[in-house]
Amino acid sequence: MSLSLLAVGTVAFDSIETPFGSAERILGGSATYIALAARLLGVPVRLCAVVGRDFPDAHVDELASRGVDLEGLVRDPDGDTFFWAGRYHFDLNNRDTLATHLNVLATFKPVLPEAYLDSAIVCLGNLDPVIQSEVLDQVKGPDGKGPALVVCDTMNYWIGSAPEALAETLKRVDVLIVNDAEARELSGEPNLVRAARVIRAMGPQTLVIKKGEHGALLFCGDTARPTVFMAPAYPLEDIHDPTGAGDTFMGGFAGHLARIAEGDPAAASDPEAMKQAVVVGSALASFVVEAFGPDRLLEMDVSDLDERLSDFHRLSAIPAGLVAL
Ligand code: AMP
Repeated sequence: MSLSLLAVGTVAFDSIETPFGSAERILGGSATYIALAARLLGVPVRLCAVVGRDFPDAHVDELASRGVDLEGLVRDPDGDTFFWAGRYHFDLNNRDTLATHLNVLATFKPVLPEAYLDSAIVCLGNLDPVIQSEVLDQVKGPDGKGPALVVCDTMNYWIGSAPEALAETLKRVDVLIVNDAEARELSGEPNLVRAARVIRAMGPQTLVIKKGEHGALLFCGDTARPTVFMAPAYPLEDIHDPTGAGDTFMGGFAGHLARIAEGDPAAASDPEAMKQAVVVGSALASFVVEAFGPDRLLEMDVSDLDERLSDFHRLSAIPAGLVAL
C-alpha cells in the first residue's frame, strides 16, 4: 500500500520582484509547492488548505491534473485568498516581505476530510503553530497510532510571536526544516552545531538547516554523537525566482522518505535515508528557482530529476583516497 502524504499550508497568490523580473498574483503558497514536489516523486498527496472566492478554477485544475487530492482544499466564499508579496535582494539569498494579507487564512480552522485521517506522513508547511497542532490532533495514521512521520517548517514570525504554541507543536515533530537565521533565533545560539543540539532537545529528532545557495545541513541519529551531513545547493547560472525553494525542498525530502517507507517503514528513519532525502529535496529545489512561481515544477518530470541527481553526485564526490600525506 502506498503511503500517503498530507500537505498542510497555504495556497496563495504571490507577487514577486527579483532583480531579474517580476510576476503579479501568480499561484504560490507553501502547500502548493510541497504537494507538487512530492507528486513529482509519485507519492499520493492530499492537500489541506483554504482559498477564497477570487481563486481561479484554472489553478485548482492545474493541481488536480498533477494528481493532487484536493478534497481538503476549502473554498471560503466570504473572503479573498491569502496574498504574499516579496522583493528579493541582488544576491537572491535575502528577501523583504512587502505584504502578507492573511485574508481567509485568518479564520481558517482545518477540518480534515475522513479520507485524510489515515495519512502516514504529515508535512506541516509554514503556518500558525496552533493550526499545525490542530491538524496533528486529527491525523490517526495508517494504524490508528498517529502519523508515521511529521515534517514541519516554521518561520521567524512564529518563533517571535507564538513561542509557547510553537514549543508545543515541536514536541510532536520528527523532522524540523528551517533556515539558518531561524535556527539561530529559535535556539538563541549563533553557532549552528550548538543550535542544532538545542533545537533537537525541543522535540524534533531530525533537524535540517537550509543555507540558501550554500546548501543544507542535516543533524540526525544519536543525540550524543549525531550524524551530520552537508548537501550542496546546485550551482545554477540562471536563477529567476527563489520563492518556494524551501517548501519544494520539504516536499522532495518528505516524498523521498514516503517512498522508502513504502518498502520498509523502519528504513525511513535511518540516517542514510535522511541524507538521501536532503539531496532529493535540494535537487528539486534547484528546479523551482529556474522560473517564476511553480512553473518549472509543473513542466518537469522525474527524468529531469534523475539527471540532476547524477549532477549532484559529480558535484560533491570527494576524491577517493585523499590523505594529508
Ligand atoms: P519559501 O520561499 O519556500 O519560503 O515559500 C514561499 C511561499 O510561502 C510563498 O508562495 C508564499 O505564498 C508563502 N508564504 C509567505 N509567507 C507566509 C506565511 N506567513 N504563512 C504561510 N505561507 C507564507
